[in-house]
Amino acid sequence: MEFQQPATWSEALEIKAAHPEAMPIAGGTDVMVEMNLDHHRPAGIIDLTRIRELTEWGVDGGTLRIGAGVTYTRLIDELGDRLPGLAIASRTVGSPQIRNRGTVGGNLGTSSPAGDAHPPLLASDAIVELESRSGKRRVPVREFFSGPKRNAMQKDELIAAFHVEPARGPQQFSKVGTRNAMVIAVCSFALALDPERRRAGTGIGSAGPTPLRAVEAEEFIQGELDWEGRRRPSDAAMQRFGELVAAAAKPIDDVRGTAAYRRHALAVMARRCLAWTWNEGASLPPSGRGA
Ligand SMILES: Cc1cc2nc3c(=O)[nH]c(=O)nc-3n(C[C@H](O)[C@H](O)[C@H](O)COP(=O)(O)OP(=O)(O)OC[C@H]3O[C@@H](n4cnc5c(N)ncnc54)[C@H](O)[C@@H]3O)c2cc1C
Repeated sequence: MEFQQPATWSEALEIKAAHPEAMPIAGGTDVMVEMNLDHHRPAGIIDLTRIRELTEWGVDGGTLRIGAGVTYTRLIDELGDRLPGLAIASRTVGSPQIRNRGTVGGNLGTSSPAGDAHPPLLASDAIVELESRSGKRRVPVREFFSGPKRNAMQKDELIAAFHVEPARGPQQFSKVGTRNAMVIAVCSFALALDPERRRAGTGIGSAGPTPLRAVEAEEFIQGELDWEGRRRPSDAAMQRFGELVAAAAKPIDDVRGTAAYRRHALAVMARRCLAWTWNEGASLPPSGRGA
């Protein structure tokens, strides 16, 4: 197996163009498991960990640009106030060791329907920045996942970064697992409220061939919420929101849970996340939350 270790981003793009079958490795927390279990033996490995740009983040026109190689631990520590939904999800990933190595770039690269970063990225309309030797392109995360462990990346492309607005209101994430920690989601749900634009964003994990949005549920609750008066949503509205989230899922029965259980749990998580975000103060001005 050929092992390459580029020192710069442009060198990495050159190598990927010349060896499109070679597999990039960031934290290695998915790649090494696949290799150790002999599920996948790539012809070559491109180690991205020496590329400084991938580990950097910054603000670009009010939007955060976060390098694909920023770890969960750093996301929690450095960006938890600006991206609370992603930070809550990140805290549920693996163990401290996995969070110290694992990256959102790697989560996107694997594109597992159960990837915990995906629901909050969907809920906040994040954008994935892809790059190859021929140039850059930006793919909205809601168009990035094309099937189970498949995505919109071309063979010669790498994930450079993702772009996401700092939270414009309360955000929540909820995950059901078979135990409290070190667990793949049975299903998960993320909600992001934007009181100024009167928008609600959702993300569903581990209940379909790809991570999903619950578009009808978003449209329903946007019209129901009393953004100005701050009246608590009615029980009927909460109930309907949960039902619409459950209806948006496309779950299957598998070793982790049944489709029926997943739909039930999603409805519960959707109602809870809505109550939590609303109690946090969905009509608060976004000041103090920005980058
Ligand atoms: C014990 C354990 C517990 C875990 N718990 C969780 C959990 O709770 N939730 C969860 O979501 N995941 C979990 N995972 C899976 C894994 O940690 C995550 O998916 C993590 O985000 C992967 O990041 P990484 O940097 O380690 O990726 P890597 O393993 O390095 O790469 C993963 C994939 O992404 C590709 N890739 C990486 N970087 C790039 C790039 N810049 N451009 C293009 N492709 C790239 C690789 O080629 C590969 O296909 C767990 C794994 C282990 C071993």
